[in-house]
Amino acid sequence: MLWFLYTTGCCNLKCKYCGGSFPERIIPKIPTYNIQQLLDFLNQYKSKRIFFYGGEPLLNKKFIEKIIFRVNAKRIGLQTNGILLNKIGREMLNKFDVILISIDGREKITDKYRGKGVYKKVIENVKHIRKIFKGEIIARMTVTEDTDIYEDVNHLLKLGLFDKIHWQLNVIWCEKWNVSTWANRSYFKGLKKLLKMFLKALKRGIVLKIVPIMGIINTFIFKPFTHVPCGAGKYSFTIDTNGRILACPIAVYESWAILGDIYKGLNELKDVKKYCFRCSYFKHCGGRCLYAQYENFWGIDGFKEVCKITIKTIKLIEKIIPTVYDCLNKRVVRIKDLYYNPLNDSTEVIP
Ligand code: SF4
Ligand code: SF4
Repeated sequence: MLWFLYTTGCCNLKCKYCGGSFPERIIPKIPTYNIQQLLDFLNQYKSKRIFFYGGEPLLNKKFIEKIIFRVNAKRIGLQTNGILLNKIGREMLNKFDVILISIDGREKITDKYRGKGVYKKVIENVKHIRKIFKGEIIARMTVTEDTDIYEDVNHLLKLGLFDKIHWQLNVIWCEKWNVSTWANRSYFKGLKKLLKMFLKALKRGIVLKIVPIMGIINTFIFKPFTHVPCGAGKYSFTIDTNGRILACPIAVYESWAILGDIYKGLNELKDVKKYCFRCSYFKHCGGRCLYAQYENFWGIDGFKEVCKITIKTIKLIEKIIPTVYDCLNKRVVRIKDLYYNPLNDSTEVIP
Protein backbone atom coordinates (compact mmCIF):
# COMPACT_ATOMS: atom_id res chain seq x y z
CA MET A 1 0.00 0.00 0.00
CA LEU A 2 1.06 3.55 -0.69
CA TRP A 3 0.13 6.47 1.58
CA PHE A 4 0.51 10.08 0.53
CA LEU A 5 0.74 12.39 3.52
CA TYR A 6 -0.15 16.03 3.03
CA THR A 7 2.26 18.07 5.13
CA THR A 8 0.60 21.37 4.20
CA GLY A 9 -1.87 22.89 1.75
CA CYS A 10 0.51 25.79 1.03
CA CYS A 11 2.84 26.13 -1.91
CA ASN A 12 5.76 28.46 -2.57
CA LEU A 13 5.12 28.49 -6.35
CA LYS A 14 2.13 29.35 -8.49
CA CYS A 15 2.46 27.04 -11.45
CA LYS A 16 -0.02 27.47 -14.26
CA TYR A 17 -1.21 23.88 -13.82
CA CYS A 18 -2.66 24.15 -10.34
CA GLY A 19 -2.26 27.78 -9.26
CA GLY A 20 -0.49 27.31 -5.92
CA SER A 21 -1.82 26.92 -2.37
CA PHE A 22 -5.15 25.32 -1.42
CA PRO A 23 -7.68 27.36 0.53
CA GLU A 24 -6.99 26.94 4.25
CA ARG A 25 -10.59 25.76 4.86
CA ILE A 26 -10.06 22.79 2.52
CA ILE A 27 -6.46 21.82 3.27
CA PRO A 28 -5.18 23.51 6.44
CA LYS A 29 -1.67 24.93 6.48
CA ILE A 30 -0.47 22.30 8.96
CA PRO A 31 -1.96 18.98 10.11
CA THR A 32 -4.77 19.52 12.61
CA TYR A 33 -4.57 15.98 14.00
CA ASN A 34 -2.32 14.47 16.62
CA ILE A 35 0.80 12.86 15.10
CA GLN A 36 0.63 9.83 17.37
CA GLN A 37 -2.90 9.25 16.08
CA LEU A 38 -1.57 9.21 12.53
CA LEU A 39 1.25 6.82 13.44
CA ASP A 40 -1.17 4.50 15.24
CA PHE A 41 -3.43 4.52 12.19
CA LEU A 42 -0.56 3.79 9.79
CA ASN A 43 0.81 1.05 12.04
CA GLN A 44 -2.18 -1.14 11.13
CA TYR A 45 -0.71 -1.47 7.66
CA LYS A 46 2.31 -3.70 7.49
CA SER A 47 4.07 -3.34 4.17
CA LYS A 48 3.60 0.32 3.36
CA ARG A 49 5.14 3.11 1.36
CA ILE A 50 4.94 6.67 2.65
CA PHE A 51 5.19 9.67 0.31
CA PHE A 52 5.16 13.26 1.57
CA TYR A 53 2.96 15.52 -0.54
CA GLY A 54 1.43 18.99 -0.59
CA GLY A 55 1.12 21.97 -1.46
CA GLU A 56 4.89 22.00 -1.26
CA PRO A 57 5.69 19.36 1.38
CA LEU A 58 9.03 20.91 2.36
CA LEU A 59 7.21 24.02 3.63
CA ASN A 60 6.40 21.88 6.65
CA LYS A 61 9.73 20.20 7.21
CA LYS A 62 9.04 19.90 10.94
CA PHE A 63 6.13 17.55 10.28
CA ILE A 64 8.25 15.41 7.96
CA GLU A 65 10.95 15.22 10.64
CA LYS A 66 8.44 14.03 13.22
CA ILE A 67 7.21 11.24 10.96
CA ILE A 68 10.25 10.15 9.02
CA PHE A 69 12.31 9.06 12.02
CA ARG A 70 9.40 7.20 13.64
CA VAL A 71 7.35 5.61 10.88
CA ASN A 72 7.81 2.01 9.92
CA ALA A 73 7.74 1.93 6.10
CA LYS A 74 9.29 -0.17 3.38
CA ARG A 75 9.83 2.87 1.17
CA ILE A 76 9.73 6.60 1.87
CA GLY A 77 9.37 9.21 -0.83
CA LEU A 78 8.85 12.89 -1.43
CA GLN A 79 7.06 14.73 -4.24
CA THR A 80 8.45 18.24 -4.34
CA ASN A 81 8.88 21.24 -6.61
CA GLY A 82 12.56 21.17 -5.63
CA ILE A 83 12.86 24.81 -4.51
CA LEU A 84 13.68 23.98 -0.87
CA LEU A 85 15.69 20.82 -1.40
CA ASN A 86 18.89 22.58 -0.34
CA LYS A 87 17.39 23.10 3.12
CA ILE A 88 17.28 19.40 4.04
CA GLY A 89 20.17 18.06 6.07
CA ARG A 90 22.06 14.91 5.12
CA GLU A 91 20.47 12.70 7.79
CA MET A 92 16.89 13.53 6.87
CA LEU A 93 17.61 13.50 3.15
CA ASN A 94 18.91 9.96 3.34
CA LYS A 95 15.76 8.74 5.06
CA PHE A 96 14.11 9.10 1.66
CA ASP A 97 14.41 6.25 -0.80
CA VAL A 98 13.16 8.34 -3.69
CA ILE A 99 12.55 12.01 -4.42
CA LEU A 100 10.30 13.09 -7.30
CA ILE A 101 11.00 16.59 -8.54
CA SER A 102 8.69 18.62 -10.78
CA ILE A 103 10.54 19.88 -13.85
CA ASP A 104 9.09 20.00 -17.34
CA GLY A 105 12.25 19.58 -19.44
CA ARG A 106 14.19 22.49 -20.93
CA GLU A 107 14.51 25.79 -19.07
CA LYS A 108 12.14 27.75 -21.31
CA ILE A 109 9.38 25.13 -20.96
CA THR A 110 9.75 24.72 -17.19
CA ASP A 111 9.89 28.47 -16.51
CA LYS A 112 6.94 29.26 -18.75
CA TYR A 113 4.62 27.15 -16.59
CA ARG A 114 6.33 27.14 -13.19
CA GLY A 115 7.78 30.66 -13.03
CA LYS A 116 10.92 32.51 -14.04
CA GLY A 117 14.11 31.15 -12.47
CA VAL A 118 12.49 27.88 -11.32
CA TYR A 119 14.52 25.69 -13.67
CA LYS A 120 17.87 27.14 -12.55
CA LYS A 121 17.00 26.85 -8.86
CA VAL A 122 15.78 23.28 -9.19
CA ILE A 123 18.84 22.16 -11.15
CA GLU A 124 21.15 23.90 -8.66
CA ASN A 125 19.40 22.06 -5.82
CA VAL A 126 19.45 18.69 -7.57
CA LYS A 127 23.20 19.08 -8.19
CA HIS A 128 23.59 19.89 -4.51
CA ILE A 129 21.67 16.88 -3.18
CA ARG A 130 23.26 14.54 -5.71
CA LYS A 131 26.50 14.90 -3.73
CA ILE A 132 24.93 13.63 -0.49
CA PHE A 133 21.73 11.74 -1.35
CA LYS A 134 21.99 7.97 -1.82
CA GLY A 135 18.44 7.34 -3.07
CA GLU A 136 16.77 7.77 -6.45
CA ILE A 137 15.77 11.06 -8.06
CA ILE A 138 12.91 11.11 -10.55
CA ALA A 139 12.09 14.01 -12.84
CA ARG A 140 8.34 14.51 -13.00
CA MET A 141 7.30 16.38 -16.11
CA THR A 142 3.94 17.90 -16.96
CA VAL A 143 3.55 17.84 -20.73
CA THR A 144 1.78 20.64 -22.59
CA GLU A 145 1.44 21.81 -26.17
CA ASP A 146 4.84 23.53 -25.74
CA THR A 147 6.58 20.24 -24.99
CA ASP A 148 8.73 18.50 -27.54
CA ILE A 149 8.72 15.13 -25.82
CA TYR A 150 11.95 13.93 -27.44
CA GLU A 151 13.84 17.17 -26.80
CA ASP A 152 12.57 17.61 -23.25
CA VAL A 153 13.05 14.03 -22.06
CA ASN A 154 16.44 13.89 -23.74
CA HIS A 155 17.43 17.15 -22.15
CA LEU A 156 16.71 15.76 -18.68
CA LEU A 157 18.44 12.44 -19.44
CA LYS A 158 21.55 14.22 -20.67
CA LEU A 159 21.84 16.25 -17.49
CA GLY A 160 22.78 12.99 -15.81
CA LEU A 161 21.06 14.08 -12.59
CA PHE A 162 17.89 11.99 -12.71
CA ASP A 163 17.59 8.23 -12.31
CA LYS A 164 14.19 8.12 -13.98
CA ILE A 165 12.04 10.40 -16.09
CA HIS A 166 8.27 10.40 -15.88
CA TRP A 167 5.66 12.56 -17.59
CA GLN A 168 1.94 13.12 -17.60
CA LEU A 169 -0.09 14.96 -20.21
CA ASN A 170 -1.78 18.13 -19.00
CA VAL A 171 -5.25 16.96 -20.01
CA ILE A 172 -8.79 16.63 -18.65
CA TRP A 173 -8.16 18.42 -15.31
CA CYS A 174 -7.32 21.65 -17.21
CA GLU A 175 -9.06 23.84 -19.83
CA LYS A 176 -9.74 21.92 -23.03
CA TRP A 177 -7.02 22.29 -25.64
CA ASN A 178 -6.41 20.64 -28.96
CA VAL A 179 -4.34 17.74 -27.69
CA SER A 180 -4.97 15.49 -30.72
CA THR A 181 -3.60 18.00 -33.22
CA TRP A 182 -0.52 18.51 -31.05
CA ALA A 183 -0.07 14.76 -30.54
CA ASN A 184 -0.23 14.05 -34.28
CA ARG A 185 2.01 16.97 -35.15
CA SER A 186 4.65 16.51 -32.45
CA TYR A 187 4.11 13.98 -29.64
CA PHE A 188 4.01 10.68 -31.54
CA LYS A 189 7.02 11.64 -33.66
CA GLY A 190 8.94 12.39 -30.47
CA LEU A 191 7.73 9.22 -28.82
CA LYS A 192 8.93 7.14 -31.78
CA LYS A 193 12.36 8.75 -31.49
CA LEU A 194 12.44 8.02 -27.77
CA LEU A 195 11.50 4.39 -28.41
CA LYS A 196 14.28 4.11 -30.97
CA MET A 197 16.72 5.51 -28.44
CA PHE A 198 15.35 3.15 -25.77
CA LEU A 199 15.90 0.10 -28.02
CA LYS A 200 19.37 1.19 -29.05
CA ALA A 201 20.38 1.42 -25.38
CA LEU A 202 18.61 -1.87 -24.56
CA LYS A 203 20.63 -3.70 -27.19
CA ARG A 204 23.73 -2.49 -25.39
CA GLY A 205 22.38 -3.78 -22.08
CA ILE A 206 21.19 -0.42 -20.74
CA VAL A 207 17.60 0.16 -19.62
CA LEU A 208 16.75 3.84 -19.98
CA LYS A 209 14.47 4.49 -17.03
CA ILE A 210 11.71 6.29 -18.87
CA VAL A 211 8.67 5.50 -16.73
CA PRO A 212 5.83 5.47 -19.31
CA ILE A 213 7.90 3.17 -21.57
CA MET A 214 9.02 0.85 -18.76
CA GLY A 215 5.61 0.82 -17.12
CA ILE A 216 3.77 -0.15 -20.31
CA ILE A 217 6.41 -2.76 -21.25
CA ASN A 218 5.74 -4.31 -17.84
CA THR A 219 2.08 -4.86 -18.71
CA PHE A 220 3.18 -7.00 -21.68
CA ILE A 221 5.95 -9.02 -20.06
CA PHE A 222 5.08 -9.14 -16.35
CA LYS A 223 1.60 -8.26 -15.15
CA PRO A 224 -1.32 -6.44 -16.75
CA PHE A 225 -3.02 -3.62 -14.86
CA THR A 226 -6.24 -4.43 -13.03
CA HIS A 227 -6.72 -0.92 -11.68
CA VAL A 228 -5.40 2.59 -12.41
CA PRO A 229 -1.59 2.35 -12.36
CA CYS A 230 -1.27 4.96 -9.59
CA GLY A 231 -3.35 2.65 -7.38
CA ALA A 232 -5.75 5.46 -6.39
CA GLY A 233 -8.50 4.29 -4.05
CA LYS A 234 -7.37 0.66 -3.97
CA TYR A 235 -3.63 0.48 -3.39
CA SER A 236 -2.85 4.14 -2.74
CA PHE A 237 -4.52 6.64 -0.43
CA THR A 238 -3.94 10.16 0.73
CA ILE A 239 -4.18 11.58 4.22
CA ASP A 240 -4.76 15.32 4.14
CA THR A 241 -3.98 17.82 6.90
CA ASN A 242 -7.51 17.36 8.31
CA GLY A 243 -6.85 13.64 8.76
CA ARG A 244 -9.29 12.73 5.96
CA ILE A 245 -8.45 9.75 3.78
CA LEU A 246 -8.80 10.51 0.06
CA ALA A 247 -8.74 8.14 -2.90
CA CYS A 248 -6.53 10.47 -4.95
CA PRO A 249 -4.19 13.25 -3.76
CA ILE A 250 -5.67 15.89 -6.06
CA ALA A 251 -9.31 15.10 -5.23
CA VAL A 252 -9.54 17.36 -2.17
CA TYR A 253 -12.93 18.90 -3.07
CA GLU A 254 -14.76 15.82 -4.30
CA SER A 255 -17.02 13.85 -1.95
CA TRP A 256 -16.68 10.55 -3.90
CA ALA A 257 -12.97 10.59 -3.03
CA ILE A 258 -13.41 10.78 0.75
CA LEU A 259 -12.88 7.27 2.05
CA GLY A 260 -12.84 7.92 5.78
CA ASP A 261 -10.37 9.43 8.22
CA ILE A 262 -7.56 8.42 10.53
CA TYR A 263 -9.98 8.26 13.48
CA LYS A 264 -12.66 5.96 12.07
CA GLY A 265 -10.65 4.14 9.40
CA LEU A 266 -10.75 3.43 5.70
CA ASN A 267 -13.82 2.59 3.59
CA GLU A 268 -13.92 0.99 0.18
CA LEU A 269 -14.14 3.08 -2.98
CA LYS A 270 -16.98 2.55 -5.41
CA ASP A 271 -14.84 2.30 -8.53
CA VAL A 272 -16.66 3.48 -11.67
CA LYS A 273 -14.41 2.78 -14.66
CA LYS A 274 -17.48 3.46 -16.76
CA TYR A 275 -15.54 4.14 -19.94
CA CYS A 276 -13.10 1.29 -19.46
CA PHE A 277 -15.28 -1.81 -18.97
CA ARG A 278 -15.26 -2.81 -22.59
CA CYS A 279 -11.89 -1.39 -23.58
CA SER A 280 -9.50 -4.02 -24.91
CA TYR A 281 -6.55 -1.85 -23.82
CA PHE A 282 -7.55 -1.82 -20.16
CA LYS A 283 -4.86 -4.33 -19.20
CA HIS A 284 -2.18 -1.98 -20.54
CA CYS A 285 -3.81 1.27 -19.45
CA GLY A 286 -5.63 0.40 -16.24
CA GLY A 287 -8.13 3.19 -16.87
CA ARG A 288 -5.35 5.81 -16.82
CA CYS A 289 -6.64 8.18 -14.11
CA LEU A 290 -9.39 7.66 -11.56
CA TYR A 291 -9.86 11.39 -11.06
CA ALA A 292 -10.39 11.90 -14.79
CA GLN A 293 -12.93 9.05 -14.85
CA TYR A 294 -14.98 10.62 -12.06
CA GLU A 295 -14.64 14.29 -12.90
CA ASN A 296 -14.16 14.12 -16.63
CA PHE A 297 -14.04 17.88 -17.22
CA TRP A 298 -13.68 17.41 -20.98
CA GLY A 299 -16.85 15.30 -21.39
CA ILE A 300 -17.08 11.92 -23.12
CA ASP A 301 -15.62 13.19 -26.42
CA GLY A 302 -12.66 14.75 -24.64
CA PHE A 303 -12.14 11.57 -22.61
CA LYS A 304 -12.16 9.46 -25.78
CA GLU A 305 -9.75 11.88 -27.45
CA VAL A 306 -7.23 11.22 -24.66
CA CYS A 307 -7.93 7.46 -24.87
CA LYS A 308 -6.95 7.55 -28.55
CA ILE A 309 -3.59 9.02 -27.55
CA THR A 310 -3.16 6.40 -24.81
CA ILE A 311 -4.01 3.56 -27.20
CA LYS A 312 -1.62 4.81 -29.88
CA THR A 313 1.10 5.11 -27.21
CA ILE A 314 0.46 1.52 -26.10
CA LYS A 315 0.50 0.31 -29.73
CA LEU A 316 3.84 2.03 -30.35
CA ILE A 317 5.29 0.33 -27.28
CA GLU A 318 3.75 -3.02 -28.24
CA LYS A 319 5.81 -2.90 -31.44
CA ILE A 320 9.08 -3.03 -29.51
CA ILE A 321 8.05 -5.97 -27.28
CA PRO A 322 9.58 -8.68 -29.58
CA THR A 323 12.94 -6.88 -29.42
CA VAL A 324 12.61 -6.57 -25.65
CA TYR A 325 12.06 -10.34 -25.42
CA ASP A 326 15.00 -10.90 -27.75
CA CYS A 327 17.26 -8.86 -25.44
CA LEU A 328 15.98 -10.83 -22.45
CA ASN A 329 16.43 -14.21 -24.14
CA LYS A 330 19.96 -13.34 -25.22
CA ARG A 331 20.62 -12.11 -21.66
CA VAL A 332 21.64 -8.68 -22.91
CA VAL A 333 19.47 -7.25 -20.12
CA ARG A 334 18.34 -8.81 -16.89
CA ILE A 335 14.65 -9.22 -16.21
CA LYS A 336 14.99 -7.46 -12.87
CA ASP A 337 16.27 -4.33 -14.62
CA LEU A 338 13.08 -4.13 -16.66
CA TYR A 339 10.67 -4.78 -13.80
CA TYR A 340 8.74 -1.70 -12.73
CA ASN A 341 6.20 -1.25 -9.95
CA PRO A 342 4.66 2.26 -10.05
CA LEU A 343 3.61 2.03 -6.40
CA ASN A 344 7.29 2.07 -5.40
CA ASP A 345 7.70 5.48 -7.02
CA SER A 346 4.19 6.97 -6.80
CA THR A 347 4.05 7.36 -10.58
CA GLU A 348 1.02 7.09 -12.87
CA VAL A 349 2.77 5.29 -15.80
CA ILE A 350 0.16 6.22 -18.42
CA PRO A 351 0.84 9.76 -19.63
S1 SF4 B 1 -7.81 3.69 -23.12
FE1 SF4 B 1 -9.50 4.88 -22.21
S2 SF4 B 1 -11.24 3.49 -22.13
FE2 SF4 B 1 -9.42 2.25 -22.45
S3 SF4 B 1 -8.80 1.62 -20.38
FE3 SF4 B 1 -7.67 3.50 -20.89
S4 SF4 B 1 -8.89 5.16 -20.06
FE4 SF4 B 1 -10.21 3.34 -20.15
S1 SF4 C 1 -3.44 9.50 -12.01
FE1 SF4 C 1 -5.41 10.44 -11.56
S2 SF4 C 1 -6.30 9.16 -9.95
FE2 SF4 C 1 -4.13 8.69 -10.03
S3 SF4 C 1 -3.18 10.03 -8.50
FE3 SF4 C 1 -3.07 11.11 -10.47
S4 SF4 C 1 -4.90 12.37 -10.54
FE4 SF4 C 1 -5.24 10.84 -8.93
